[in-house]
Amino acid sequence: MRIELKEISVREVVAGYADRAEEGVVGYGGLLDIRPKYQREFVYDDKKRNAVIDTIRKDYPLNAMYWVVTEQGTYEVMDGQQRTISFCRYANSDFSVSIDGRPMAFHNLPTSLQKQILDYKLMVYLCSGTDQEKLDWFRIVNIAGERLLEQELRNAVYTGRWLTHAKPIFSKTNCPAYLLANKYVSGRPIRQEYLERAISWVSDGDIEHYMSTHQHDPNADELWTHFKEVVEWVKLTFTTYRKEMKGVDWGTLYRQFKDAAHDTEALESEVKALMMDDDVTSRKGIYQYVLTRQEKYLSVRPFTDQMRRAAYERQSGVCPKCGEHFPIDLMEADHITPWSRGGKTTAANCQMLCLEDNRRKGAV
Ligand SMILES: [Zn+2]
Repeated sequence: MRIELKEISVREVVAGYADRAEEGVVGYGGLLDIRPKYQREFVYDDKKRNAVIDTIRKDYPLNAMYWVVTEQGTYEVMDGQQRTISFCRYANSDFSVSIDGRPMAFHNLPTSLQKQILDYKLMVYLCSGTDQEKLDWFRIVNIAGERLLEQELRNAVYTGRWLTHAKPIFSKTNCPAYLLANKYVSGRPIRQEYLERAISWVSDGDIEHYMSTHQHDPNADELWTHFKEVVEWVKLTFTTYRKEMKGVDWGTLYRQFKDAAHDTEALESEVKALMMDDDVTSRKGIYQYVLTRQEKYLSVRPFTDQMRRAAYERQSGVCPKCGEHFPIDLMEADHITPWSRGGKTTAANCQMLCLEDNRRKGAV
């Protein structure tokens, strides 16, 4: 990793400034991508924006900024996007700030003050290195700066034809992946949450390895095809749509169960019954449960303190399995008839077991 400190004037950054909305923002004679697509939209409020202009106008220091040197020798703003856009917009006379009680746009300023602003020196760290080095470095910088999500950081590093092809599919407002799957997948494409989910599904969670392996692929067809297959499988397997289907980890279920033959009618009636079951507190988990049979996904309602106490008194503090006496805080509540066999979370179906017997029963 090479990190080089360079003084760059506001004038140089403002040169060639252009804001093309979702297509990005450029400056520094077209060489600087001020808002790479993995970055968020401009979110500074007026107060913070004006504070940047005041700082520059009064020649106070701004915190250092970080630019990434790309493979093509151009630059991307890693940290400092919002400050950069603030002074670029001001120099473009997009807004006014109050100076001595009067609103002043850049073109209203006396030439000497315009010059002072344009001559202001920014401290910029230029970062170049291997992908892994950059990613590690970004994580550290990101702690102090405007926060990026993990996938936004990865996109800053694993650039190439593969990512260029994947972004229009997964990373834009109303992109094809969103239109196809927004009833099943939660998150915001613009914050890269769809892309992240899709890569996680195709790679079984090993996102960075997948991105580095495919970085220079000519396209992201494999990723897109896999994503479509997962969604198609969900629709075929669970024939009745319910809002709880949004945000389920479908890719993992697809990986485990795509080759099994499912009785979709039986699945539907079981899902329906579980949706009506008061003891099921995680309705999203129903989809995982009917395939994996693991009760943890349902978060079955626990016994209340009152039910536990009633059972303890009924047993006079004696564990029915081993016949020993225990204080209540060394015992755990257990379904006499297991929940999976229709036993409910009620006082009548509650027994208190000692920790060891409860563990033994759970392991069966
Ligand atoms: Zn016991």
